[in-house]
Amino acid sequence: MTDTRITHWINGSALPGGSRSQPVYNPATGQAVAEVALADTATVQTAISAAQAAFPAWRNTPPLKRARVMSQLKVLLEQHSDEICTLITREHGKVLADAAGELQRGIENVEYASYVPELLKGEHSRNVGPGIDSWSEMQPLGVAAGITPFNFPAMVPLWMWPMAVACGNTFVLKPSERDPSSALRIAQLAEEAGLPPGVLNVVQGDREAVDALLTDPRVKAVSFVGSTPIAEYIYAQGCKNGQRVQALGGAKNHAVVMPDADIANAVSALMGAAYGSCGERCMAIPLIVAVGDQTADRVIAGLKEQIAAMKVGPGTQAACDMGPLVTQAHRDKVRAYVDQGVAEGADLIVDGRGLVVPGHEQGYFLGPCLFDRVKPGMVIYREEIFGPVLGVVRVASLQEAMALIDAHEYGNGTCIFTRDGEAARYFTDHIQIGMVGVNVPLPVPVAYHSFGGWKRSLFGDLHAYGPDAVRFYTKRKTITQRWPSAGVREGAVFSFPSSR
Ligand code: NAD
Repeated sequence: MTDTRITHWINGSALPGGSRSQPVYNPATGQAVAEVALADTATVQTAISAAQAAFPAWRNTPPLKRARVMSQLKVLLEQHSDEICTLITREHGKVLADAAGELQRGIENVEYASYVPELLKGEHSRNVGPGIDSWSEMQPLGVAAGITPFNFPAMVPLWMWPMAVACGNTFVLKPSERDPSSALRIAQLAEEAGLPPGVLNVVQGDREAVDALLTDPRVKAVSFVGSTPIAEYIYAQGCKNGQRVQALGGAKNHAVVMPDADIANAVSALMGAAYGSCGERCMAIPLIVAVGDQTADRVIAGLKEQIAAMKVGPGTQAACDMGPLVTQAHRDKVRAYVDQGVAEGADLIVDGRGLVVPGHEQGYFLGPCLFDRVKPGMVIYREEIFGPVLGVVRVASLQEAMALIDAHEYGNGTCIFTRDGEAARYFTDHIQIGMVGVNVPLPVPVAYHSFGGWKRSLFGDLHAYGPDAVRFYTKRKTITQRWPSAGVREGAVFSFPSSR
C-alpha cells in the first residue's frame, strides 16, 4: 500500500469515492507506486448526475467558445508534456520518447476538436418547395461515456472526450485502472483551460464502474477501446440498453513483404512496429508474411542484426528502445505464448525469455522474441499476444498472403512493402482490413481522418476520432420551414408532398 491515492474527478473536484481500491505498479521496478480508487455504482451515478447537470448550459455555449477551450488545452498539454509523459512511463512502462509520441497524437485530436464550429455547420437547402427552406443540424446527445485501455493511457481518452465535449456533450471517462494518472491529470488541465466543472468527469474503476455506465439511461453514447471480448460485451450491453455504441477491439496485424521490396527499409520499419511499446499497440505488427523463401531469409537476417543491437530497460533511460510489459500477469502470459509457440513447432530464432535488466530484476521485462515458420493453425498465429513477439510466415505469392489476412478474425491494420505500384494498388483495393499502409508499417490515421478496423476489431459503424467522431457524438435534426404568406397559401392537400 502506498500513500498516493488516485482519485475520481467529479464536478471539478477530486473525490475518493467507494471503499474498493487496487495498486498501480511501476512495471520497470515491480513496485506499487499508487493506489487507485475503484468506483462503486453510486460514485458513477454521482459523475453522471454532474455531467447531466452541466449539459444544458454547455450545449448552449457557442461552439466557438467551446473550441477556444480546446485551443487553450492544446497549449497546456504542450506546456505540461514532460509531466504527463513521466506519468505515462511510470505506470505503463513505455520509453519516454514513445510516451511523447502518444501525447502528440492526442494533442492533434484536441487540435482537430478546436475546428468544431466548422465541423458543425450542417447543411442548408433553400426553396426545397415554394417558399420552403430545409436544413440539417448536428445536435449533441447529452451525456457520453468513454472506457479506455491501458496501452495508450493519454491518447485514447483524447480520441474521445475532446470531440464529444466540443460538440456540446458532457462526458464521463473511465480510464484503465492499470495506468490511470495521465488521463486524470489531463482532465484537471482541461478545467484549467476553461472547461466548466461537470462537463468532463473521470471515474476510476473496473467492471462495476463500466456496468454502471452501460445501464444508466442518462448515458446516451459509449465509446470503448480495448480487447475484443470486452468490446463485444460492451457493444451488446450498451445496444440492449438503447445506447449508441462504438467498441474498438483487438488486432493481429500482418505485414506483407514482397520480393521486390527495399528490404533494409522494411526491416527497420518492422522493428519499430513489432517491438515499439513492447508490442503493446493495437496497430503493432506481430506477423510478417514474407513472399518467397529468399525474401523471408533476407528479412530474418536483417531483423536478427537489429534485434541484437536493441536496448531493453526502464523507459526513463533515454538509451532504451523498449521498456517492460505493463504487469507481471501480462508478462507471464506473453512468455507462456512463447513457450507455446515452441511447443507448436515454430522456430524460435531469437529468444528473449532469459533477459535480465541489471538493477531492475523485479521489473516485468521480456526481451524481443522472433519466430520463423509460424503457421496459420498455430495459437501464436491466431491470438493477439500483445507483447514483443514477432512471427514470420512464409508464403509463395501475394494471393496466398492476402487470403491469410482476409481469413483472420481481426481486421484492424495491415501493410505491404513493395516497389510494385500495381501490387500495392491491388492490395489496398481488395484487402479486408480497415487501415492499410504501403511501405508504412503503422498506418494510424491522422486526427482529421478516422481510426477503425474491420471484422472483429470494431463493433459498431462509426470509427473513432476524425470526421466519424463528429457524427458519433451528434444526432442529426432536419428542419423544414415555411412562413405562410398570400403567395404560398393553399387549401388542404391529401397527397404526399413532393416536388412534382
Ligand atoms: P481490456 O479490454 O482488458 O480493458 C479495456 C477497458 O475495459 C478498461 O478500461 C477495463 O477497465 C475495462 N474492462 C476490463 N474488463 C472488463 C469487464 N469484464 N467488463 C467491463 N469492463 C472491463 O483491454 P486492455 O488490456 O486495457 O488493452 C489492450 C487491448 O486493447 C488489446 O486487445 C488491444 O488490441 C486493444 N486496443 C485496441 C485499440 C483499437 O483501436 N482497436 C486501441 C488500443 C488498444
